[in-house]
Amino acid sequence: MANILVIEDNLEVQDIVSEILENEGFKTLVADNGSTGLQLAQQYHPDLIISDLMLPELDGYGILQALRQDRSTDAIPLIFLTAKSDRESYRQGMELGADDYISKPFTQDELLKAIHIRLSRKAKILNRCQTQIRQLKEELIFTNNHDSLTQLPNWQFLQWQFNQICTQAQPPNLIPLLLIGIDQFNWMRSNLGYAYSQAIIQAVALHLQYQVDSLRLPLATLGRLEADQFALLPGEFNHSTDIAKLAQSLIHSFKQPLIVKDQSVSISASIGIALYPHDNQDIDMLVSYARVAMNHGKQQGGNHYQFYTDVGQVDAAEQIAIASELPRAIEQGEFQLYYQPQVDLRTGQLIGAEALVRWYHPEWGIVSPGKFISIAEETGLIIPLGEWVLRIACQQAKDWYQRLSSQLKVAVNLSAHQFDQPDLTQTILQVLADTDLAPECLEIELTESMLMRDTAAAIQTMQDLKAIGISLSIDDFGVGYSSLSYLQQLPFDTLKIDRCFVSNIDTNHANAAITSAVISMAHDLQLKVIGEGVETTAEREFLSQHHCDGMQGYLISPPLPAPKFESLITSLSSTEKTMLS
Ligand code: C2E
Ligand code: CA
Ligand code: CA
Repeated sequence: MANILVIEDNLEVQDIVSEILENEGFKTLVADNGSTGLQLAQQYHPDLIISDLMLPELDGYGILQALRQDRSTDAIPLIFLTAKSDRESYRQGMELGADDYISKPFTQDELLKAIHIRLSRKAKILNRCQTQIRQLKEELIFTNNHDSLTQLPNWQFLQWQFNQICTQAQPPNLIPLLLIGIDQFNWMRSNLGYAYSQAIIQAVALHLQYQVDSLRLPLATLGRLEADQFALLPGEFNHSTDIAKLAQSLIHSFKQPLIVKDQSVSISASIGIALYPHDNQDIDMLVSYARVAMNHGKQQGGNHYQFYTDVGQVDAAEQIAIASELPRAIEQGEFQLYYQPQVDLRTGQLIGAEALVRWYHPEWGIVSPGKFISIAEETGLIIPLGEWVLRIACQQAKDWYQRLSSQLKVAVNLSAHQFDQPDLTQTILQVLADTDLAPECLEIELTESMLMRDTAAAIQTMQDLKAIGISLSIDDFGVGYSSLSYLQQLPFDTLKIDRCFVSNIDTNHANAAITSAVISMAHDLQLKVIGEGVETTAEREFLSQHHCDGMQGYLISPPLPAPKFESLITSLSSTEKTMLS
């Protein structure tokens, strides 16, 4: 029952009021002067106050004013019960925030009616507040457990759900974690814009949720982890073949294009699968393993599912370790550039240096770029790393130019992700300006695969780069599509024949035939040709006889740190003639 505070100095009235209230079942508190009344109100927060107006020590207006100024008491309803029935006193009371004004003499009905109205209004307000608080709490729980872009469960919820599934599962059943990634998502983000790529994620989320719902697996939970990566916990399975079927059906479901902002978009996905408890018991590790498997699938060209168990364990563990160490290594600058000389096959002159990055891990020692470049690419870290490589290579070329008067062209490898950056030209211009290097001293190496996805956009980027004054070479020629016809459309200066064609060229007839044909066709297209990975004099002789312009390889030198390369610059310029004789 409600608590009511009665502040009344007339003890007779105080008794009557208290009796009426107690008969009605209310609990009462009484005060016979204003300041005690205020103190009791502040201490006990009654549900309602009935107060006289004219009181010793502090009058009714004073009490009301003090109550309304204090956040803990400002909502307590107050009814004046007074003999002052003039209009002015009434107005003053109401203006200060009184809830009702009853003139003495009063009837029991009048008093109780006023009390019930105030209390029921207070209860309604309280009710509304409680509903609002409950809704806010529910919203908060939802936001804490869901991703704001797709409204799918987030990592926190997935962890919880994983534990639920694990506790209910019947051994030896398997609990798979499927990591689903959109193929070529980095490319889409760079080329279609941020907003559109977000819309793609939303469309994929809807599509996947629909697929998952139609599977009718009671515990299945689809969540979003990061960017384009979704995790599916479908529940428990007896056989891995059923998991494979599920993954295949999800891959297959992308056959139809998705509609994104009224446009039809063809999307494919790659799925990596890790199994509890077989691969690991920890969900963090399962996600890492599934990611390794997914990336493996992507490297096979995407549109592919892959079980972690089928990826080499050593490979996988190494990839995970590299991926977790790379951000720190970039922050701490554990990288160094090596330079490999490129030599003119006719004159023996040093014509250029290819910059090749090395990672000095404090415990592992040197990590080869073959191991970490693809991971840096996948995680986007290639952008800061690539820009660092470009800057250091340009600084070095400028330094050699100033100190040794060498006009070496420095060649820098670009990754696909870097090539897709809309501000690539701007970045290169900025680095050239900062290092004060002439653009003719910089060459950028691209690979075929970067150019095949969107040839029109690639041509535009290449033309922009050419307009700066830098040169472009096509790297690893022969490894990919090796189509000379599309080369016609692309503004390359140099073609680098991959080591696999140069190797044993003097004895391998097929390699010899291909290489000589490539050299002569490249010359028809006005391209210079460099043979890569030349290890023997016989290989060098063959290239020289077939009019290859330049060479690079261990025969001259492996990639060297800058100070050693510097000694080579000096020694090569004095011995070039003897080396080629
Ligand atoms: P790549 O661009 O084809 O570089 C040539 C690779 O062949 C280098 O390997 C080099 O050390 C090696 N090589 C050179 N001459 C010979 C030879 O006579 N025999 C043999 N067996 N190998 C030779 P490295 O330095 O391990 O680099 C591997 C790949 O990593 C590079 O292949 C390139 O694709 C990538 N890479 C290296 N540095 C960077 C970089 O700064 N950015 C990017 N995006 N990729 C890089
Ligand atoms: Ca290269
Ligand atoms: Ca190469």
